[in-house]
Formats: sequence, structure tokens, C-alpha cells
Amino acid sequence: MHLTIGWLYARTMNIYGDRGNIVTLVERCRRRGIAVDVLEIGVGDPLEPGRCDLFFWGGGQDREQIAAARDLAGPKGETLRAEIERGVPLLAVCGGYQLLGHFYRPHGGPELPGLGLFDAWTIAGSRRMIGNIVVDSDEFGELVGFENHSGQTFLGLSARPLGRVRIGWGNNGRDGSEGCRYRHAIGTYLHGPLLPKNPRLADYLIARALELHGWSGELPPLDDTLADRAHAEAVRRAEDQRRR
Ligand code: GLN
Repeated sequence: MHLTIGWLYARTMNIYGDRGNIVTLVERCRRRGIAVDVLEIGVGDPLEPGRCDLFFWGGGQDREQIAAARDLAGPKGETLRAEIERGVPLLAVCGGYQLLGHFYRPHGGPELPGLGLFDAWTIAGSRRMIGNIVVDSDEFGELVGFENHSGQTFLGLSARPLGRVRIGWGNNGRDGSEGCRYRHAIGTYLHGPLLPKNPRLADYLIARALELHGWSGELPPLDDTLADRAHAEAVRRAEDQRRR
């Protein structure tokens, strides 16, 4: 079996350790005998339908988001939308997540159009929401990460959140929701990186990617001792942060 991961805006939108998500996906595949290619897709690069089995899109600041929003305003954005509709899994963190909603309105700048895959929109707020975050999700259990954003994301009536915030801010610091899901796409504010500490989420993405090739079943389990330890340590830090 062979998978291709499309890494959207790898050079420009890749902060707070987001690259670790790619490392985790590749490594969890490699340990199961699945070969992986990582294809970096930057501004101006083509996006071929059917080429990628999984997408990752990391966070970035407003300037990088403006370039990405422009890049996706044309046929490339249409292709990405069609790929998600086809069932290709995608993980988008923070700045990438924001551009998958209807729009992102930065401080003082013009609104950046999003792909509208998520029924959500984001408005830059006056305070930065920074810190360790713990989220309870139905499908993936407890998720832990680190957030740093001023954008506040609000979910529309048809949106499905990723989970509920236990510690931290999440989508907007007000309604307790965190992230969003549509088809096999997941948007979240969890940097960290997220996947090394939340292996169930990594395996969800890998399994959906394999299903595009007709595979079905359960992924063989891996020794997650280190991942579980990192997860527990991150939760402990988040709890300490709440007590302070
Ligand atoms: N511009 C965004 C914000 O601050 C994205 C930041 C990020 O990706 N970490 O809300």
C-alpha cells in the first residue's frame, strides 16, 4: 500500500511544531509497512484531482493566510473542495482551519474568503488565546494541544464541532466548542504538534486515506507508550496552568 500526503502551504504555514503532524503520519504508516510520499503544495503549485490521499494544512499568520486565500480563490480551491467531498481526509490547524470556513476577518484588513467547507466563520478578536488546551471528543476521546490565536471562530447551525473544551479557549473562548468536522476533514486550534500526542486522531486520518484505495478494517495497533506518556504530561501541564 502506498499513500500520498498533500502538505498544503508547507513552507509558509507551519508554526508551533505543525511539521510534527507530518512526521507522525509518515512514521505511523511506515511502522505498518505503508509507504508514504509527502507532496508539498505551495502558492502557485497545481493541485491535481486524485493525486493526494490525505491533506495537512498548518497554521500561519495573517500575511501567509492572505497569500493562501488568494491561491485558493480560483480553480485550486474548487479542486480541494471536490477532494474533500470525495472523502479525502484532511487535518487543518488554526490558520488553515480558519480558511476552510466561510471567511476570516483579520484586524483592520479586508475579509479573506474561505472555502466554506465548514459552516463556520472567524473574526479577529482583541485578545490572544494562548495556552495548553484539553478537549473532550466523542470519537477520539481526550485531545490535548497548545493554542495561540486571536481569531474567534463561530460555528453555524449545520456545523459539527470536533469536541468540547475542558481546559483552554477553543473556537472562541465563549461557547465551549473546539474545532469543526465535515466529511473526513477536521479543523482545529490544536497546535503542539497535535498528532504525536493524540495517536487515535492520526490513525483516523490514515484509515480514511487507506479506504480511498478500497482497504477496510482495523489498523494494526502500535506501541503507543511514548505517545501516551506525552499525552498525559501535556494534560498535566494544562491542569497546572488552570490552577495558576
Ligand atoms: N491569524 C490567526 C490567528 O491568530 C492564525 C494563527 C495561527 O495559525 N496560529 O487567529
